[in-house]
Amino acid sequence: RAYNFCAGPAALPTDVLQQAQQEMADWHDKGLSIMEMSHRSKEFVAVAEQAEQDLRELMQVPDNYKVLFMQGGASSQFSMVPMNLLRGQAKADYILTGQWSKKAIAEAKRYCDVHLAASTDFASAPTQAELELSADAAYVHYCPNETIGGVRFDYIPETGAVPLVADYSSAILSEPLDVSRFGMIYAGAQKNIGPAGLCVVIVRDDLLGQALPGTPAMFDYQTAANNGSMYNTPPTYSWYLAGLVFQWLKAQGGVEAIGEVNRRKAAKLYAFIDGNDFYANPVALANRSIMNVPFTLADDSLDAAFLQQSEQAGLLNLAGHRSVGGMRASIYNAVPEAAVDALIDFMGDFARRHG
Ligand code: PLP
Repeated sequence: RAYNFCAGPAALPTDVLQQAQQEMADWHDKGLSIMEMSHRSKEFVAVAEQAEQDLRELMQVPDNYKVLFMQGGASSQFSMVPMNLLRGQAKADYILTGQWSKKAIAEAKRYCDVHLAASTDFASAPTQAELELSADAAYVHYCPNETIGGVRFDYIPETGAVPLVADYSSAILSEPLDVSRFGMIYAGAQKNIGPAGLCVVIVRDDLLGQALPGTPAMFDYQTAANNGSMYNTPPTYSWYLAGLVFQWLKAQGGVEAIGEVNRRKAAKLYAFIDGNDFYANPVALANRSIMNVPFTLADDSLDAAFLQQSEQAGLLNLAGHRSVGGMRASIYNAVPEAAVDALIDFMGDFARRHG
Protein backbone atom coordinates (compact mmCIF):
# COMPACT_ATOMS: atom_id res chain seq x y z
CA ARG A 1 0.00 0.00 0.00
CA ALA A 2 0.98 3.60 -0.59
CA TYR A 3 1.60 6.01 2.27
CA ASN A 4 -1.50 8.15 2.75
CA PHE A 5 -1.08 11.62 4.26
CA CYS A 6 -4.72 12.62 3.77
CA ALA A 7 -6.23 14.90 6.45
CA GLY A 8 -9.49 12.99 6.34
CA PRO A 9 -10.80 10.53 5.47
CA ALA A 10 -7.39 9.41 6.55
CA ALA A 11 -5.20 6.32 6.55
CA LEU A 12 -6.49 3.30 8.45
CA PRO A 13 -4.15 0.66 9.87
CA THR A 14 -3.42 -1.98 7.23
CA ASP A 15 -3.98 -4.72 9.80
CA VAL A 16 -7.48 -3.41 10.44
CA LEU A 17 -8.34 -3.31 6.74
CA GLN A 18 -7.08 -6.84 6.29
CA GLN A 19 -9.10 -8.12 9.23
CA ALA A 20 -12.20 -6.36 7.92
CA GLN A 21 -11.58 -7.88 4.51
CA GLN A 22 -11.32 -11.36 5.98
CA GLU A 23 -14.52 -10.88 7.94
CA MET A 24 -16.38 -9.07 5.19
CA ALA A 25 -18.56 -11.79 3.68
CA ASP A 26 -18.70 -14.17 6.62
CA TRP A 27 -18.33 -12.63 10.04
CA HIS A 28 -17.15 -15.16 12.66
CA ASP A 29 -18.67 -18.09 10.73
CA LYS A 30 -22.18 -16.64 10.98
CA GLY A 31 -22.69 -16.84 7.23
CA LEU A 32 -23.26 -13.14 6.78
CA SER A 33 -21.46 -9.82 7.00
CA ILE A 34 -21.64 -7.74 10.14
CA MET A 35 -23.24 -4.94 8.13
CA GLU A 36 -26.14 -7.23 7.23
CA MET A 37 -26.88 -8.02 10.86
CA SER A 38 -29.54 -6.47 13.06
CA HIS A 39 -28.12 -3.80 15.31
CA ARG A 40 -30.25 -5.44 18.05
CA SER A 41 -28.65 -8.86 17.55
CA LYS A 42 -26.58 -10.12 20.45
CA GLU A 43 -23.60 -10.36 18.10
CA PHE A 44 -23.69 -6.73 17.05
CA VAL A 45 -24.54 -5.46 20.52
CA ALA A 46 -21.44 -7.28 21.77
CA VAL A 47 -19.30 -5.64 19.07
CA ALA A 48 -20.74 -2.21 19.91
CA GLU A 49 -20.27 -2.62 23.65
CA GLN A 50 -16.72 -3.89 23.21
CA ALA A 51 -15.89 -0.83 21.09
CA GLU A 52 -17.21 1.49 23.78
CA GLN A 53 -15.36 -0.39 26.49
CA ASP A 54 -12.09 -0.29 24.53
CA LEU A 55 -12.44 3.44 23.90
CA ARG A 56 -13.20 4.02 27.58
CA GLU A 57 -10.11 2.03 28.49
CA LEU A 58 -7.86 3.76 25.95
CA MET A 59 -8.93 7.24 27.06
CA GLN A 60 -9.56 6.32 30.69
CA VAL A 61 -13.00 7.87 30.46
CA PRO A 62 -14.39 8.40 33.99
CA ASP A 63 -17.65 6.61 34.87
CA ASN A 64 -19.64 9.85 35.05
CA TYR A 65 -19.25 10.38 31.30
CA LYS A 66 -21.38 8.89 28.54
CA VAL A 67 -19.71 7.69 25.35
CA LEU A 68 -22.05 8.16 22.38
CA PHE A 69 -21.64 6.93 18.81
CA MET A 70 -23.45 9.54 16.76
CA GLN A 71 -23.92 10.40 13.10
CA GLY A 72 -23.56 13.45 10.88
CA GLY A 73 -19.83 13.86 11.33
CA ALA A 74 -18.24 16.43 13.57
CA SER A 75 -20.04 19.27 11.76
CA SER A 76 -23.41 18.22 13.20
CA GLN A 77 -21.92 18.77 16.64
CA PHE A 78 -21.43 22.43 15.79
CA SER A 79 -25.22 22.75 16.26
CA MET A 80 -25.79 19.89 18.72
CA VAL A 81 -23.39 21.48 21.22
CA PRO A 82 -25.43 24.69 21.67
CA MET A 83 -28.72 22.78 21.41
CA ASN A 84 -27.73 20.53 24.29
CA LEU A 85 -25.35 22.55 26.41
CA LEU A 86 -26.80 26.05 26.62
CA ARG A 87 -29.03 24.76 29.44
CA GLY A 88 -31.24 27.86 29.55
CA GLN A 89 -28.33 30.27 29.26
CA ALA A 90 -27.91 32.87 26.52
CA LYS A 91 -24.19 32.99 26.01
CA ALA A 92 -21.26 30.72 25.17
CA ASP A 93 -17.54 31.46 24.92
CA TYR A 94 -15.67 30.37 21.82
CA ILE A 95 -11.96 30.46 21.05
CA LEU A 96 -11.16 31.19 17.42
CA THR A 97 -7.93 29.65 16.15
CA GLY A 98 -8.69 28.41 12.64
CA GLN A 99 -11.16 27.27 10.02
CA TRP A 100 -12.85 24.62 12.18
CA SER A 101 -13.44 26.75 15.25
CA LYS A 102 -14.71 29.44 12.84
CA LYS A 103 -17.29 27.03 11.46
CA ALA A 104 -18.35 26.02 14.96
CA ILE A 105 -18.79 29.69 15.86
CA ALA A 106 -20.88 30.45 12.77
CA GLU A 107 -23.25 27.65 13.70
CA ALA A 108 -23.42 28.55 17.40
CA LYS A 109 -24.47 32.09 16.49
CA ARG A 110 -27.77 30.63 15.31
CA TYR A 111 -28.53 29.61 18.90
CA CYS A 112 -26.84 32.02 21.31
CA ASP A 113 -24.66 35.03 21.89
CA VAL A 114 -21.13 34.00 21.06
CA HIS A 115 -18.42 35.74 23.03
CA LEU A 116 -14.97 35.40 21.50
CA ALA A 117 -12.72 34.54 24.41
CA ALA A 118 -9.74 34.91 22.08
CA SER A 119 -8.99 34.96 18.39
CA THR A 120 -5.70 34.47 16.63
CA ASP A 121 -4.10 34.76 13.20
CA PHE A 122 -4.71 31.00 12.71
CA ALA A 123 -0.99 30.34 13.15
CA SER A 124 -0.89 30.19 16.95
CA ALA A 125 -3.10 29.45 19.96
CA PRO A 126 -3.78 31.98 22.73
CA THR A 127 -2.15 31.42 26.10
CA GLN A 128 -4.28 30.82 29.17
CA ALA A 129 -3.57 34.42 30.28
CA GLU A 130 -4.88 35.73 26.96
CA LEU A 131 -8.28 34.08 27.34
CA GLU A 132 -11.08 36.48 28.21
CA LEU A 133 -13.61 34.10 29.69
CA SER A 134 -17.13 35.16 30.67
CA ALA A 135 -18.44 34.19 34.08
CA ASP A 136 -21.94 33.72 32.63
CA ALA A 137 -21.05 31.51 29.65
CA ALA A 138 -22.90 28.18 29.39
CA TYR A 139 -19.68 26.56 28.13
CA VAL A 140 -16.33 27.32 26.50
CA HIS A 141 -15.72 25.76 23.09
CA TYR A 142 -12.36 25.35 21.36
CA CYS A 143 -10.57 23.22 18.79
CA PRO A 144 -7.43 21.75 20.41
CA ASN A 145 -6.02 20.79 17.01
CA GLU A 146 -6.93 22.87 13.98
CA THR A 147 -6.61 20.39 11.15
CA ILE A 148 -6.18 22.93 8.35
CA GLY A 149 -3.73 25.33 9.96
CA GLY A 150 -1.89 22.64 11.92
CA VAL A 151 -2.33 24.65 15.14
CA ARG A 152 -2.39 22.82 18.45
CA PHE A 153 -3.06 23.98 21.99
CA ASP A 154 -0.13 22.99 24.20
CA TYR A 155 -2.34 23.09 27.29
CA ILE A 156 -5.96 22.44 28.29
CA PRO A 157 -7.72 25.75 29.03
CA GLU A 158 -8.73 26.25 32.65
CA THR A 159 -12.35 27.40 32.69
CA GLY A 160 -13.34 27.04 36.35
CA ALA A 161 -16.94 25.93 36.80
CA VAL A 162 -17.83 26.57 33.15
CA PRO A 163 -17.77 23.30 31.15
CA LEU A 164 -15.05 23.04 28.53
CA VAL A 165 -16.09 21.60 25.15
CA ALA A 166 -13.49 20.42 22.65
CA ASP A 167 -13.60 19.48 18.99
CA TYR A 168 -10.96 16.76 19.15
CA SER A 169 -11.62 15.45 15.62
CA SER A 170 -8.03 15.50 14.44
CA ALA A 171 -6.19 14.71 17.66
CA ILE A 172 -8.32 12.26 19.64
CA LEU A 173 -6.34 9.18 20.70
CA SER A 174 -3.08 10.72 19.48
CA GLU A 175 -1.67 11.05 23.01
CA PRO A 176 -2.90 10.74 26.61
CA LEU A 177 -5.67 13.14 27.64
CA ASP A 178 -7.30 13.92 30.99
CA VAL A 179 -10.98 13.58 30.05
CA SER A 180 -12.07 14.84 33.48
CA ARG A 181 -10.96 18.35 32.50
CA PHE A 182 -13.78 18.52 29.94
CA GLY A 183 -17.54 18.85 29.98
CA MET A 184 -17.61 17.30 26.55
CA ILE A 185 -15.31 16.04 23.81
CA TYR A 186 -16.39 15.22 20.30
CA ALA A 187 -14.51 13.84 17.33
CA GLY A 188 -15.41 12.99 13.76
CA ALA A 189 -14.15 9.47 13.18
CA GLN A 190 -12.31 9.84 9.91
CA LYS A 191 -8.86 10.62 11.30
CA ASN A 192 -7.90 8.44 14.27
CA ILE A 193 -11.06 6.36 14.70
CA GLY A 194 -12.52 4.97 11.49
CA PRO A 195 -14.83 5.76 8.58
CA ALA A 196 -16.29 9.24 8.00
CA GLY A 197 -19.82 9.98 9.14
CA LEU A 198 -19.47 8.50 12.62
CA CYS A 199 -18.82 10.95 15.44
CA VAL A 200 -17.80 10.00 18.96
CA VAL A 201 -19.20 12.17 21.76
CA ILE A 202 -17.94 11.94 25.33
CA VAL A 203 -20.15 14.00 27.61
CA ARG A 204 -20.42 14.45 31.38
CA ASP A 205 -23.66 13.12 32.88
CA ASP A 206 -24.75 16.33 34.58
CA LEU A 207 -24.85 18.17 31.23
CA LEU A 208 -27.49 15.85 29.76
CA GLY A 209 -31.26 16.27 29.72
CA GLN A 210 -31.44 20.03 29.28
CA ALA A 211 -31.67 20.39 25.50
CA LEU A 212 -33.35 23.44 23.96
CA PRO A 213 -37.09 23.03 23.47
CA GLY A 214 -37.66 21.80 19.93
CA THR A 215 -34.37 19.88 19.74
CA PRO A 216 -34.96 16.90 17.46
CA ALA A 217 -34.83 13.61 19.35
CA MET A 218 -31.97 12.47 17.13
CA PHE A 219 -29.87 15.49 18.16
CA ASP A 220 -30.52 15.22 21.89
CA TYR A 221 -27.62 13.56 23.71
CA GLN A 222 -30.07 12.29 26.32
CA THR A 223 -31.90 10.28 23.64
CA ALA A 224 -28.64 8.73 22.48
CA ALA A 225 -27.57 8.04 26.06
CA ASN A 226 -30.92 6.45 27.00
CA ASN A 227 -30.76 4.16 24.00
CA GLY A 228 -27.13 3.06 23.97
CA SER A 229 -26.65 5.16 20.79
CA MET A 230 -29.28 2.94 19.11
CA TYR A 231 -32.37 5.16 19.10
CA ASN A 232 -32.39 4.57 15.37
CA THR A 233 -30.30 2.21 13.25
CA PRO A 234 -26.73 3.28 13.99
CA PRO A 235 -23.92 3.23 11.39
CA THR A 236 -23.13 -0.35 12.32
CA TYR A 237 -20.26 -0.98 9.93
CA SER A 238 -18.46 2.21 10.95
CA TRP A 239 -18.95 1.36 14.60
CA TYR A 240 -17.52 -2.12 14.01
CA LEU A 241 -14.51 -0.69 12.16
CA ALA A 242 -13.95 1.85 14.92
CA GLY A 243 -13.89 -1.09 17.31
CA LEU A 244 -11.19 -2.80 15.24
CA VAL A 245 -9.14 0.42 15.29
CA PHE A 246 -9.46 0.60 19.09
CA GLN A 247 -8.24 -2.97 19.38
CA TRP A 248 -5.35 -2.20 17.05
CA LEU A 249 -4.44 0.81 19.16
CA LYS A 250 -4.50 -1.26 22.33
CA ALA A 251 -2.17 -3.74 20.62
CA GLN A 252 0.22 -0.85 19.85
CA GLY A 253 0.41 -0.13 23.57
CA GLY A 254 -2.41 2.42 23.79
CA VAL A 255 -2.30 6.21 23.65
CA GLU A 256 0.83 6.52 25.76
CA ALA A 257 2.86 4.42 23.33
CA ILE A 258 1.34 5.88 20.15
CA GLY A 259 1.81 9.37 21.61
CA GLU A 260 5.54 8.75 21.81
CA VAL A 261 5.63 7.58 18.21
CA ASN A 262 3.51 10.55 17.12
CA ARG A 263 5.75 13.07 18.85
CA ARG A 264 8.82 11.47 17.28
CA LYS A 265 7.25 11.47 13.79
CA ALA A 266 6.28 15.14 14.09
CA ALA A 267 9.60 16.22 15.60
CA LYS A 268 11.63 14.75 12.76
CA LEU A 269 9.40 16.26 10.08
CA TYR A 270 9.50 19.73 11.66
CA ALA A 271 13.26 19.45 12.19
CA PHE A 272 13.70 18.65 8.53
CA ILE A 273 11.44 21.54 7.41
CA ASP A 274 13.19 24.01 9.73
CA GLY A 275 16.60 22.87 8.59
CA ASN A 276 15.89 23.25 4.88
CA ASP A 277 15.52 26.68 3.23
CA PHE A 278 13.33 25.17 0.54
CA TYR A 279 10.45 24.45 2.98
CA ALA A 280 8.68 26.44 5.70
CA ASN A 281 5.99 25.97 8.34
CA PRO A 282 4.28 29.15 9.59
CA VAL A 283 2.99 27.95 12.98
CA ALA A 284 4.33 29.25 16.32
CA LEU A 285 6.77 26.67 17.73
CA ALA A 286 4.71 25.94 20.86
CA ASN A 287 1.57 25.36 18.83
CA ARG A 288 2.72 23.05 16.09
CA SER A 289 0.35 20.15 15.58
CA ILE A 290 1.74 16.64 15.90
CA MET A 291 -1.03 15.37 13.59
CA ASN A 292 -1.21 17.91 10.73
CA VAL A 293 1.97 19.46 9.37
CA PRO A 294 1.32 22.18 6.80
CA PHE A 295 4.32 23.42 4.82
CA THR A 296 5.07 25.62 1.86
CA LEU A 297 7.69 25.44 -0.86
CA ALA A 298 9.96 28.48 -1.30
CA ASP A 299 8.75 28.67 -4.91
CA ASP A 300 5.04 27.87 -5.12
CA SER A 301 5.22 27.46 -8.89
CA LEU A 302 6.75 24.07 -8.04
CA ASP A 303 3.69 22.93 -6.03
CA ALA A 304 2.16 21.00 -8.91
CA ALA A 305 5.44 19.21 -9.65
CA PHE A 306 5.88 18.39 -5.96
CA LEU A 307 2.41 16.85 -5.77
CA GLN A 308 2.79 14.92 -9.00
CA GLN A 309 6.19 13.51 -8.13
CA SER A 310 5.27 12.68 -4.54
CA GLU A 311 2.25 10.76 -5.78
CA GLN A 312 4.47 8.85 -8.21
CA ALA A 313 6.69 8.02 -5.23
CA GLY A 314 3.72 6.51 -3.39
CA LEU A 315 3.25 9.46 -1.03
CA LEU A 316 -0.41 10.38 -1.41
CA ASN A 317 -2.60 13.38 -0.57
CA LEU A 318 0.01 15.95 0.36
CA ALA A 319 -1.94 18.96 -0.98
CA GLY A 320 -2.89 21.56 1.61
CA HIS A 321 -6.56 22.31 2.28
CA ARG A 322 -8.21 23.98 -0.69
CA SER A 323 -8.76 27.16 1.36
CA VAL A 324 -5.06 27.72 2.09
CA GLY A 325 -3.09 25.88 -0.60
CA GLY A 326 0.49 24.78 -0.02
CA MET A 327 1.16 21.32 1.34
CA ARG A 328 0.06 19.41 4.38
CA ALA A 329 1.20 16.06 5.70
CA SER A 330 -1.32 14.54 8.08
CA ILE A 331 0.49 11.99 10.18
CA TYR A 332 -2.26 10.38 12.22
CA ASN A 333 -1.88 7.22 14.29
CA ALA A 334 -2.17 4.87 11.30
CA VAL A 335 0.62 6.62 9.35
CA PRO A 336 3.75 4.63 10.18
CA GLU A 337 7.03 6.25 11.08
CA ALA A 338 8.47 4.77 7.88
CA ALA A 339 6.03 6.96 5.93
CA VAL A 340 7.46 10.07 7.55
CA ASP A 341 10.99 8.86 6.80
CA ALA A 342 10.02 8.28 3.17
CA LEU A 343 8.44 11.73 2.97
CA ILE A 344 11.56 13.40 4.38
CA ASP A 345 13.74 11.52 1.89
CA PHE A 346 11.49 12.60 -0.96
CA MET A 347 11.41 16.23 0.22
CA GLY A 348 15.18 16.34 0.50
CA ASP A 349 15.59 14.87 -2.94
CA PHE A 350 13.01 17.23 -4.45
CA ALA A 351 14.74 20.26 -2.89
CA ARG A 352 18.12 19.15 -4.26
CA ARG A 353 16.72 18.77 -7.74
CA HIS A 354 14.74 22.03 -7.74
CA GLY A 355 16.40 24.27 -5.14
N1 PLP B 1 -13.60 19.60 13.12
C1 PLP B 1 -12.34 19.35 12.75
C2 PLP B 1 -11.21 19.74 13.65
C3 PLP B 1 -12.08 18.71 11.52
O1 PLP B 1 -10.84 18.45 11.13
C4 PLP B 1 -13.20 18.36 10.70
C5 PLP B 1 -13.04 17.70 9.39
O2 PLP B 1 -12.24 17.11 8.94
C6 PLP B 1 -14.48 18.65 11.14
C7 PLP B 1 -14.64 19.27 12.35
C8 PLP B 1 -15.69 18.31 10.31
O3 PLP B 1 -15.87 16.95 10.32
P1 PLP B 1 -17.01 16.26 9.44
O4 PLP B 1 -16.57 16.41 8.03
O5 PLP B 1 -17.02 14.86 9.94
O6 PLP B 1 -18.28 16.96 9.69
